[in-house]
Amino acid sequence: MTGPISNTLLAAFQQARWPSLGPGESFRFACQDECMGRCCHSIKIFLDPWDVECMARYLQISSQQFIQQYCRIDFDHRYCWPYVLLREAETGSCSFMLPGGRCSIYPVRSRNCRTYPLARAVRFTFNDNDDCTVEEKYFLLPRQPFCFGFNGLQEWNLHSWLADSGLAEYNEKADLYLSVIQYALEKLNLEQWFSPTLARFFFPIIFLPEVLRQKFGLTGEKPDHQEFYIRRMRALRLLLSDLSTSLQHPEGHPEQKALNQTSLVERLRQLLSG
Ligand code: SF4
Ligand code: SF4
Repeated sequence: MTGPISNTLLAAFQQARWPSLGPGESFRFACQDECMGRCCHSIKIFLDPWDVECMARYLQISSQQFIQQYCRIDFDHRYCWPYVLLREAETGSCSFMLPGGRCSIYPVRSRNCRTYPLARAVRFTFNDNDDCTVEEKYFLLPRQPFCFGFNGLQEWNLHSWLADSGLAEYNEKADLYLSVIQYALEKLNLEQWFSPTLARFFFPIIFLPEVLRQKFGLTGEKPDHQEFYIRRMRALRLLLSDLSTSLQHPEGHPEQKALNQTSLVERLRQLLSG
C-alpha cells in the first residue's frame, strides 16, 4: 500500500519493472479460506477522503467519529499534507476483520483493499490552462508468501476485475483528490509554504464533510454527498491556488489583493454552496 502522494508516482512502479497488465491479458486469483484475512493484518491501509466518507456512511456515523474511532492521522514529513490510515491494521488485525478473516465492511472496503492483487499507477499532467490529463497503468503484484490467492482458479482480466471490484468509481473519486495534491506540488510549490497550521485548516475540507455542512448550513439533501465531494475537491484546489499566490507574492496585483481580502472561510462558503 502506498500513501496519498506516492500513489501518484508512476515512476516507482516503472522502476520496479513489474510488467503492466494490458486489457487483453488474464490472470487467475481467488481468495482462499486457508489464508482469509492475512492480508488485513499488520499493514498500512491509507484511506482516501472518498473511502472515509463511504465507510462512515455505511456504519451510519460521521466521518469525524469514524476517524476518531478507527483511524490514525499523520502528516507527510515533506509537505505537511495530512492523511489518515486504518489504526488497528498497522500493528494487528484490521478493526473490520471478522473472526475467520472476512471483512465486515466489504461493500465499502477501501480503494487500496479492493485493488489487490493489482496495483494502479496514475500520472496527472497539467497543460498551460491547468486542465488535467489522467494516464493510468495496472500491474499484477508479485506473489506474496502469505497469500494463496494465486492458487485460485477463477480467471480475470482487467475489465472484469474493475467491474467486479467496483474500482472505477473509487478511482474516479480518488483522482479528483490526488490530482489536487499533484497540482499543488507541481504548480503551486506546496512544499515551500504549506504548514501544519494550514493542514489543520484544510483537514475538514478533505475529510470531514459533515463538519462543513454544519458550519455552512448545508444540512439538507442537496447537494447530495457525491456532489458535495466534488465541490469540496474543487474548493480545495481553488483555495490552495489563492493561498499560494498570496503567500508567495504578498504584494500581488490589485485583483489578486482584492481576492485575498475576502476571508478564506467566506470564500469556502461560496465554493461549497455551488
Ligand atoms: S477494510 Fe476489510 S478488506 Fe480492508 S483491511 Fe480491513 S478487513 Fe481487510
Ligand atoms: S487470498 Fe490473499 S487477498 Fe485473499 S484473503 Fe487470502 S491473503 Fe487475503
